[in-house]
Amino acid sequence: MIAVISPSSNAIGLLYLVTIVCFILALRFLSSPKLARRGNWVGGVGMIIAIVSTLLLDGIGNWVLIVVAAAIGSVVGVVGARRVKMTAMPQMVALFNGVGGGAAALVAIAEFHVANGNLDTTPVVSTVLSALIGSISFAGSLIAFAKLQELIGGRPITFPGQNIFNAAVFFGAVGLGIALIAGVEDQWVLWLLVALAVLFGVLFVLPIGGADMPVVISLLNAFTGLAASATGFVLSNTVLIVAGMLVGASGTLLTLLMAKAMNRSVSNVLFGAFGKVQAGAGAGMRTDDGRTVRATTPEDVAVQLSFANKVVVVPGYGMAVAQAQHDVRALAELLEERGVDVLYAIHPVAGRMPGHMNVLLAEANVPYDALKEMDEINPEFPQTDVALVIGANDVTNPAARHDTSSPIYGMPILDVDKAHSVIVMKRSMNPGFAGIDNELYLEPQTTMLFGDAKDSVVKLIAAVKQT
Ligand code: NDP
Repeated sequence: MIAVISPSSNAIGLLYLVTIVCFILALRFLSSPKLARRGNWVGGVGMIIAIVSTLLLDGIGNWVLIVVAAAIGSVVGVVGARRVKMTAMPQMVALFNGVGGGAAALVAIAEFHVANGNLDTTPVVSTVLSALIGSISFAGSLIAFAKLQELIGGRPITFPGQNIFNAAVFFGAVGLGIALIAGVEDQWVLWLLVALAVLFGVLFVLPIGGADMPVVISLLNAFTGLAASATGFVLSNTVLIVAGMLVGASGTLLTLLMAKAMNRSVSNVLFGAFGKVQAGAGAGMRTDDGRTVRATTPEDVAVQLSFANKVVVVPGYGMAVAQAQHDVRALAELLEERGVDVLYAIHPVAGRMPGHMNVLLAEANVPYDALKEMDEINPEFPQTDVALVIGANDVTNPAARHDTSSPIYGMPILDVDKAHSVIVMKRSMNPGFAGIDNELYLEPQTTMLFGDAKDSVVKLIAAVKQT
């Protein structure tokens, strides 16, 4: 049976307050790359205090079940987090987020069952919200996970009348929620609500693809926070209410910031079916005016790099796949020893998760002050001798600036095409996440160094040493 939790003693109330302060400080620290590790620790300590104080509450329930569940959850969490590759982190976040939403929905169902449908008004509103939002978040996150893990196609899956059908499912679930709040006590109504909410979660993420996945994951994260907060009201647990609101608020802010970074409205992300593959993408680029891509060699690139005044490294998803960050730092140090000024251009959605490039480069001990955000680095490109694009594609595509028919039109990009020379390191002419060709590769100042990013950087280091 689920315990009705109400912190009875001042001591527990105080511990909850300490937890809330820890969570707020953790968020503060996490917003700076230098303090992010401390933020993780402070958040973790806050979570331990929250769990221990909650377990000290009267009538907490069956200890054996709690210990067994906590042990299983801890083992899965620790093993999963230690084994996951950095490139698979977004899937992991989606999965953990879904589990949180599912937990909120399960608590709501259990509470409704225990009360036999006979809840007071406030708990019934919270129960309905917890079941509705938690179920949407659970199902949506699982679909996001399956897309990112490539268990199902990452491209948008659409059908005629989709938005109308989705709206009907959503409002059907809301209608059942209103019936429950109005006093219907049948448990099957709540089960049907959960089923419709799960269906909506699936339908709502299926049509979203391409470059919009980060926004969706962040939005689902906000949903889980709100569901957890509603569960906090169901259980009368202050720390859950506040923690849920913090997740909901920070997830919402991150969603808005990411949508802004891609120059898309949140409604366009959700209902625009962005990211359908363009016919012919990646077919090897050649234009009517005869322009084609030009390949180069590590030796030629090494000469350009060694004699440059300023080099800007533009990392992207391919650098993460190749795990080239340590060699990239070694190459940069080698160039710096020769008097070259080396900076790193960080696009907000480069890679596959917010802050992906910052995390990788920090792991390779690249100094924080060499990392430049998009707004800061863009004015530098016209004075840059060589832009070294390492596994980045969509975030450098000039079509975003002028081609109104491009699906990434309007997304702010790194202006690498304004550099005197652009070297693009990737394995083939395959497109990036958005599934579209990159016209940067046809520009006269661009040459391609084909191959795995790590192999190419290692070859460049050797070639620079010989120059
Ligand atoms: P892209 O996905 O646009 O391109 C990555 C490129 O890396 C590919 O074209 C690929 O080309 C190349 N690549 C892959 N493996 C290697 C390798 N081993 N060595 C060298 N190159 C390799 O990446 P960007 O970082 O430019 O853009 C990120 C995209 O992902 C954006 O569209 C963004 O919206 C989206 N996204 C971002 C998320 C985030 O939170 N940051 C989350 C989810 C999606 P090839 O196969 O030819 O080597």
